Amino acid sequence: QAKSAGRNTARFFDPVMQAAAAAHDESVRDLRRGFAGQEFVLQYQVQVDNNGEITGAEALVRWNHPERGLVAPLEFIPLAEETGIILPLGQWVLETACNQLHQWSLQPLTANWSMAVNVSALQFTQANFVEHVSYALKKTGVNPRKLKLELTESMLIDDIEDIIDKMNHLKKQGVSFSLDDFGTGYSSLSNLKQLPLDQLKIDQSFVQDIMSDPSDAIIARAIIVLGHSLGLKVIAEGVETQEQRDFLMVIGCVAFQGNYFGKPLFAHELNMQTDPGDAAASSI
Ligand code: C2E
Ligand code: MG
Ligand code: MG
Ligand code: MG
Repeated sequence: QAKSAGRNTARFFDPVMQAAAAAHDESVRDLRRGFAGQEFVLQYQVQVDNNGEITGAEALVRWNHPERGLVAPLEFIPLAEETGIILPLGQWVLETACNQLHQWSLQPLTANWSMAVNVSALQFTQANFVEHVSYALKKTGVNPRKLKLELTESMLIDDIEDIIDKMNHLKKQGVSFSLDDFGTGYSSLSNLKQLPLDQLKIDQSFVQDIMSDPSDAIIARAIIVLGHSLGLKVIAEGVETQEQRDFLMVIGCVAFQGNYFGKPLFAHELNMQTDPGDAAASSI
């Protein structure tokens, strides 16, 4: 017992670990403060079809931090998941995105746009996840067919039957599902067979060097063939150049997202792009 107490004491007084623990606590406090202070905002990145027409957008959360400015999700989502803050934050994202979707549905140029929303594993495993999504849909009155939930392969290592059950409940309401970052996670092809998915999203890491790395090109093409053979839609993310878009079209891709078409923007910035009264955006 003395030995373990000694070990604990040594650990407690390790200045490096103590500093790390204090910094972690401070980050958690800051995240809670930020959520309570409504500092989170959504940007939207358009998705386009093979004619270049916008079909919808993906909602991407940012933390508008008073000192740090706009903070990217990868810098706070892991902590939000670790602390459970992702639950209220994720629900806020869902409701805010649905609200925006409702706004779009009221305007001619955006009336048919869909909305993709990222869902974290912790959110999905909550017993009341289906009810939470239904609530967001009812509250905003949007057509559930316009809502697409993005799952990642990392969440598929949990109870697959429970995941399928929840997906089916939501699919009955019209909600669709996309498997994000496809090809980088743990998913086995049998998961792909079992899950009631609607879309695969080719991870941007395969798109990035698609023009120079033959392996990436082969993998991207295999994903497209696999997806289409299984009756799924396939979208490529992280498309940055016309060459990448053209190449992806040649290998059969008909849906795209990436900075080539538009960076993630605030809703009012998107409106400027699509407002028919805006001379700069008008094609007439
Ligand atoms: P993701 O869902 O795979 O989103 C795509 C990421 O790629 C976004 O990064 C987007 O800004 C970036 N991206 C888009 N086009 C390009 C491009 O042409 N080139 C490059 N280099 N990057 C591009 P972002 O916004 O930093 O988001 C990172 C990740 O954070 C997302 O990856 C998603 O997994 C997660 N995330 C974002 N919003 C939420 C959210 O509301 N909830 C949850 N749980 N996760 C979220
Ligand atoms: Mg995504
Ligand atoms: Mg992705
Ligand atoms: Mg990604």
